[in-house]
Amino acid sequence: MATKGVFRVECPHCGESFDADFWTVVRGDRDHDVKELILSGEFDLLVCPKCEEMVQHEEPFLYIDPHRDLLAFVMPESYEAEKEKWIARMNADYEPVKASLFAGQGLSSAPLYLFGLGQLASRLENDRDREEETEVMEFMAREEGLKLLPVNPVAARELDIPFTLPMPAGLFSRAAGLKAAEGLYAKNDALPRLKKLVDALKAGKDDTIPFVKI
Ligand SMILES: [Zn+2]
Repeated sequence: MATKGVFRVECPHCGESFDADFWTVVRGDRDHDVKELILSGEFDLLVCPKCEEMVQHEEPFLYIDPHRDLLAFVMPESYEAEKEKWIARMNADYEPVKASLFAGQGLSSAPLYLFGLGQLASRLENDRDREEETEVMEFMAREEGLKLLPVNPVAARELDIPFTLPMPAGLFSRAAGLKAAEGLYAKNDALPRLKKLVDALKAGKDDTIPFVKI
């Protein structure tokens, strides 16, 4: 469940002040409807109760997706001018609830500090493209009888590779992973992130695969 807070908003069209609900915490892995609102740009749109005009109003919120190892403090774009002050304030506000929010969530990456909904939306869009490509690759891998190993999401974003890695059953080595990835890419060269996975595996120095989550 998303967590909400009430904030006072002044309508820029008619000057009316009204209370509105805002999400203060959004769970990206659970609140699918809210995530869609972020992606469609409707997340921070309100309707003035007096003049019924659309009002855009941003309030800071926390976006968490433990499954994708994503934790972001999302602040209004206008806060960027006083970045340090707001980052310190966000950290102080969340300090008392941090333990309960993050306990057992499996988040390992450092939090992101984003200014404006656009910065979050572009990251989520990028993840969605990566998910789609990963699904196509996984479908092909299963047809070949390959296993799929989870890639550390932070590394997947950094290296721009799929969220999983194909591997022959019973094996775990860079050479075996490379052969599996190359085999799949030979069958479908319309998967740019699979190509980058091949390149990342080729670039390895020994037989370990640092970006696989074990
Ligand atoms: Zn109004």
